[in-house]
Parts: sequence; C-alpha cells; structure tokens
Amino acid sequence: MTVSAGVVAVQGDVSEHADAIRRAARAHGEDAEVVEIRTSGVVPDCDILLLPGGESTAISRLLAREGIDEEIRDHVAAGKPVLATCAGLIVASADANDDRVDTLDLIDATVDRNAFGRQVDSFEAPLDVDGLDDPFPAVFIRAPLIAEVGDGVEVLASWDGDPVAVRDGPVVGTSFHPELTDDSRIHDLAFFPEEQQEAEEAVF
Ligand code: GLN
Repeated sequence: MTVSAGVVAVQGDVSEHADAIRRAARAHGEDAEVVEIRTSGVVPDCDILLLPGGESTAISRLLAREGIDEEIRDHVAAGKPVLATCAGLIVASADANDDRVDTLDLIDATVDRNAFGRQVDSFEAPLDVDGLDDPFPAVFIRAPLIAEVGDGVEVLASWDGDPVAVRDGPVVGTSFHPELTDDSRIHDLAFFPEEQQEAEEAVF
C-alpha cells in the first residue's frame, strides 16, 4: 500500500521529515508518497499530515491565507493522523499565548512559544517516550513549553517535569525536532499507531 503524506512546506525541514516518513512507512512494509503543501486542495488527498518546525507566526499566516487551516481541521475530524513538531505544535495547540499565531486547536493544550529558548537556545537530550523501548535522541531548538494539557491529552514524554510530547486523538505534538536524527520512531508512533497495526493484522 502507498500512504499519501502531506508536509506543510512554508519553511522547516521538509526533506528530513519526508525521509523519516518514508523510513517509518518502509518499516511497516508500505511506501509513502510525500507531497509538499503550500496551497489548498492538497490536504484532502493526504492520509497523513506533518506540520514541521519553523516560525509559527509564518506557518499560521500561510495556513489561514490559503484556507489550508480548514482542510487540516477536516483531516483531523476524519480521524486521520497528524504529527506537529515544534512550531507545528504551537500552531496545532489550542492557545499559544501569542495573538500573532492563529492556533488550529487540534491539541487541547496551551503552549508558551520559545519558553525553552529563553533559557538555552538549543540542546539534545535522551528522552523516555511512552511506547518506545529505548530513549529517543530529542533535539530542542527554541522549543515551545507545553504549559497545560486538557483531560483527553496523553503525555507521551516529559523533560524537566514538563510535557514535551503529547497525543490528542489522531494528533501527536512534540516540542522537539524528531526529523534531525536518523531515528524515525516518533514518525512511526504518530503515523502507524498500534490500534491501526492491530486492525491490519486482524485483516490479513
Ligand atoms: N520558536 C519558534 C516559534 O515560535 C519555533 C522554533 C522551532 O520550530 N524550532 O515558532
């Protein structure tokens, strides 16, 4: 089967994410066709979506201007997976504590832009993540802090007492950049969740 994967491509590590998606798909015996999203009309044909890092103000402006925001909300309403990383997480949150970002309200969480960045610009840390056997090498770059999460949000990983990876239904958000190492386990976790694997195993 070929999975159609859309990566919002305003800025950010589009090719690194595309590689990680292809690797994660291959691990499940599937191919991924990766398309870049800059205009409306692409998201409706995507099985999975990725909102990368970058600058959340710029990303949110493009999504609203092009009408991609509504398409992404429809994608999530249909229960299809999204991985939102760093600035993508800020855009996907319910509230970013910043009027310049029109949040999509896909993840019931309040985030604080650049919270880690105020202390230290970037760092790498081995992170224990629910569902992964070994720590994930997480790279934080001017990362947002997840200040509050709603009842329905599952915290997948925390750093220094704060959540840094969360799941809200079909949407996974990370404060860090999972595309910056060769490790595609976060993409795997977001796009090939266990329920789906079990369902596939039951069919075949
Ligand atoms: N601090 C950036 C923002 O507010 C996010 C940084 C990143 O994506 N690495 O959008």
